[in-house]
This record gives sequence, C-alpha cells and structure tokens, in this order.
Amino acid sequence: MSTIADNLSTLATRIHDAATASGRDPAGIHLLAVSKTKPADAVREAFAAGVRDVGENYLQEALGKQAQLSDLPLTWHFIGPIQSNKTRAIAEHFDWVHSVDRLKIAQRLSEQRPDHLPPLNLCLQVNVSGEDSKSGCTPEELPALAQAIAALPKLRLRGLMAIPEPTDDRAAQDAAFARVRELQDSLGLGLDTLSMGMSHDLESAIAQGATWVRIGTALFGARDYGQA
Ligand SMILES: *Cc1c(COP(=O)(O)O)cnc(C)c1O
Repeated sequence: MSTIADNLSTLATRIHDAATASGRDPAGIHLLAVSKTKPADAVREAFAAGVRDVGENYLQEALGKQAQLSDLPLTWHFIGPIQSNKTRAIAEHFDWVHSVDRLKIAQRLSEQRPDHLPPLNLCLQVNVSGEDSKSGCTPEELPALAQAIAALPKLRLRGLMAIPEPTDDRAAQDAAFARVRELQDSLGLGLDTLSMGMSHDLESAIAQGATWVRIGTALFGARDYGQA
C-alpha cells in the first residue's frame, strides 16, 4: 500500500510533467488536497508530507477536522454545494470557497465574513457540461453574476471552478477545460485562478490553464463512502 507521502510525490511528478509538456511553470499550479470522508489523521499525514491546502465538501465534517487540526497552519477551502443556512460558518471558518453559483450565497458570505479576517477568496462554479443535475451557473448567467460578485465587499473574486462530466476521452476533457478558460478570459476581470482538474483529468486541466487541481483519490486513496 502506498503512503500519502508516496502519493504526493507521484502527484508532484504528474503536475510537473503536465506543466512542462504545455510550456507552463509548475510553480503556477497548486495542489488542493480533497479530504472528504478521510479522517483528520490522514490530513495530518498529508501536512507532514508537505500539503498546506485542504478542500472539504461537507461543513460539519470539515469543522470537526479543523478542530482536530487547529495546531497546523493549514489553508481551508470549501468545495461542496452551499445552502443558505451554511454560509455563516463557511464565512467564519474558511479561506477560500470554490463552489459559489448564486448571487444570494455570495451576498450572505460577504455580509457574514468577520471583519478581523482578510477577504474570502471566491471562485464561481460554472457548469460547462450542461447536465441538469450538476451544480454551477450556466455560461449565460456567468457574466452578470461575476460582475455582481466582484463588487461585493469582503470577498475577493479569484476565478472559476468547474467539474466537467467525467470522461476518459482526452479530447473531450480538453474541450471542457478550454471552455472554462475561454469563459474566464471573456469576463475581462483580470481573474487569476482556474480551479479545475481532479485525480483522473489533472493533465488535461493543467494543459488548459488550471491553477488549482483538486485531488482526493490519487492522494488519500479510494473513498469508502460518500461521493465517489
Ligand atoms: C471529491 C472532489 C474532488 C476530488 O476528486 P478525486 O477524483 O477523488 O480526485 C475534487 N473536487 C470536488 C468538488 C470534489 O467534490
């Protein structure tokens, strides 16, 4: 069985190779360790191996791990669906939110971000696969939503996040991630972040401009329960 440190080293090689293959500086690509369903001890092991950014999907689970890991200087990212009644705790306990797709949620996060904390870094989730079940705003909704969110205080709109429909077809992966990058460019807001690419498609995402890859399985191993 490979350890988290071994997995992290394999991932560093994958990220480095994908970056250089597309003429990018590997330093411009950050790894977000997605620890949903994994215990705090696994995150502690990842920290020891060099991980500093942790992504969580479920608020209660995340708050429990944050309490257990409060001795570590980790940066916490919320990446799951957000209901209105969760915004206060997210605004108080996270440094980044990748999964905002409605103005109402952004307004609440802005209002509820405590004054003593720096602005909450925010990515807008966009749905480029067009499936009804997926979260994310539509490409059509994106420009007005981005403009409105960029104007809110106590938030810093950083860029876009996407979870394209999973596929092993590299050309289809490339097309979806390229669409996200094009949407970001067309906003003309000078955004610096593209949160896209997971364990199975990080090479394509990096080729198309990802600055954060969100990695669960390839770092922590398969999840026994929860979302696959
Ligand atoms: C679970 C999850 C990931 C990580 O997925 P893996 O395929 O395990 O790397 C990334 N992003 C989001 C939003 C997730 O929910």
